[in-house]
Amino acid sequence: MSKVLEPIVTSIFDLFKIGPGPSSSHTIGPMAAAYNFQKSLQSISDKKLQRANAIEVHLFGSLSATGRGHGTDRAVTAGLLGWEPETCDSKALSGLLSGDKDVYAVRAKGVSISFSRKNIYFEKSKLKSSFANTLIIKLVSGRKVIFEKEYYSIGGGFIKCKGQSKDKSPEPVYAYSNMAGLKETLSKSGISIKDLALANEKAITLKDENDIDKKLDKIILAMEASVKSGIHTEGVLPGPIGLSRKASLLYKRAHSFGDAPDRFLTYLNAYALAASEENAAGSRVVTAPTSGSCGVIPAILYLLKYHFHISGDLLREGLLVAAVIGFIAKHNASISGAEVGCQGEIGVASSMAAGMLAYINGYNIGIIENAAEIALEHHLGLTCDPVGGYVQIPCIERNAVAAVEAYNAYLLASAGDPSKQKLKFDQVVSAMRDTGRHMSVNYKETSKGGLAKCVTCC
Ligand code: SF4
Repeated sequence: MSKVLEPIVTSIFDLFKIGPGPSSSHTIGPMAAAYNFQKSLQSISDKKLQRANAIEVHLFGSLSATGRGHGTDRAVTAGLLGWEPETCDSKALSGLLSGDKDVYAVRAKGVSISFSRKNIYFEKSKLKSSFANTLIIKLVSGRKVIFEKEYYSIGGGFIKCKGQSKDKSPEPVYAYSNMAGLKETLSKSGISIKDLALANEKAITLKDENDIDKKLDKIILAMEASVKSGIHTEGVLPGPIGLSRKASLLYKRAHSFGDAPDRFLTYLNAYALAASEENAAGSRVVTAPTSGSCGVIPAILYLLKYHFHISGDLLREGLLVAAVIGFIAKHNASISGAEVGCQGEIGVASSMAAGMLAYINGYNIGIIENAAEIALEHHLGLTCDPVGGYVQIPCIERNAVAAVEAYNAYLLASAGDPSKQKLKFDQVVSAMRDTGRHMSVNYKETSKGGLAKCVTCC
């Protein structure tokens, strides 16, 4: 029997999160951290708070290198103002710090502290930390620090706080930590993968099935909305690159193809570009598993719903299966471009989508694993080198390429015999972790190498 090391206790709704683009690690994570800091101010004595005259946000690592292009400065401002990623108005968010002299009031217990662009520091120095994305937020009085918290944005909008003791999460009903453990549990218990995911979600979140279904529907609707909005929007994306949107053009082209074989692929490309372009514009998207890779799963879901007329129930189940694959990748490697490069974002998204397709098409766990394995295998080594620090080039087209690859991985897996498949999903996840470990920091969301070095955007 394979040993369950640390069982996976992540909630589906921590993996699939609604929030503003363009980056889960650089926008959603920092906003959540700043929001947490603002709430923590409540625990400070009135006397200390009244002495405070500034709040400082210090950004390190990849947050410092590409934080401007990723909107980290606006995100931390929003969090300090008490805005949360899921409910904030993405248009209002893009308007923050638009004027150099904009000053905001951060409020706590009736005390108001001014905050502006000059309170955000993009640090050049290296911090001794095992996390690529660190932010330290300080409450200061003159030159004295009254209160300080250190946060790590670890990809997909997840954050950790220094010194925070691990929450004693409720135990999952079916403990597994990797694909081998999952398969063993499925085979011993006779339960289906979607029922396993559901049972664990209920145990971890203490929610009932009805609530979970409603939340899954909300996630599917938000994914769908990002595709719909993107295929009907034209124009140029924000930022100095001047990149024109292309999803609506492809969508119209797909209509004109009649029964030509190109039609199917063109629709799939259009849907993936659509959600990714919305992300680049700072609109609401769903981390799947990250914002940079938010076009892959929604594109496949949209195709399944509107072209193959797959029922809502089956789409929900497919999303549960995709989440299980994402959990295993996150638990044993990473879903952060700043930690392992784009293989952890786009590669994992493609893998989740391929497994979801296999499940929805009625295949067993053997084929689901192979589909996920094939999709991830062919993204190994993929670097993260966004031009100008903007989640546009190569990110947007990469979502389309990965959606097509997910479909292809499912086709390849479904034609094979799982018992003859030479590679296991766990081996590829381990290879991704090792590849990421050896990857130069220049290719981990710092825009210091690769395409970012070869292409100038302004
Ligand atoms: S290159 Fe990949 S990992 Fe890097 S920002 Fe773009 S989508 Fe994210």
